[in-house]
Amino acid sequence: MSPSPPPPTPQRGPDPETRSYLCIGCPLGCRLEVDESPVGDIVEVRGFACRKGREYAIQEHTDPRRLVTTTVAVDGARWPRLPVRTVDPVPKDRVRAVCRALGDVRMSAPVHIGDVVVADVLGTGTDVVATRDLPALT
Ligand code: SF4
Repeated sequence: MSPSPPPPTPQRGPDPETRSYLCIGCPLGCRLEVDESPVGDIVEVRGFACRKGREYAIQEHTDPRRLVTTTVAVDGARWPRLPVRTVDPVPKDRVRAVCRALGDVRMSAPVHIGDVVVADVLGTGTDVVATRDLPALT
């Protein structure tokens, strides 16, 4: 009687891919790691010291966003440029396009802090607002 064949070894799928991020939630700057399976599922998140860091790692991995701060031209004020920013972060891959679009904007003084400079910039769902007052020249 011949010995029975050995049991089949379980098949291991490909290893998950690990991406690293630096948490900007506080000055500790925890180094975060996200493991993603070959089909794109998040398998594990490591390195965070609080819930905020875990949420940041998942957001940064799946849908990275950035606040845009820049200036636009303004006529009739003491200064030629008006500082502006997006109210909410926009998708990271739209940041350049938002900056380019703001390059074409020209405001007229007076401008008040919080004034909407561009509503729903490039359909991102966020407004661009003035971040300082610029009174008109008298
Ligand atoms: S994970 Fe928490 S403790 Fe660590 S840097 Fe981010 S916010 Fe700070």
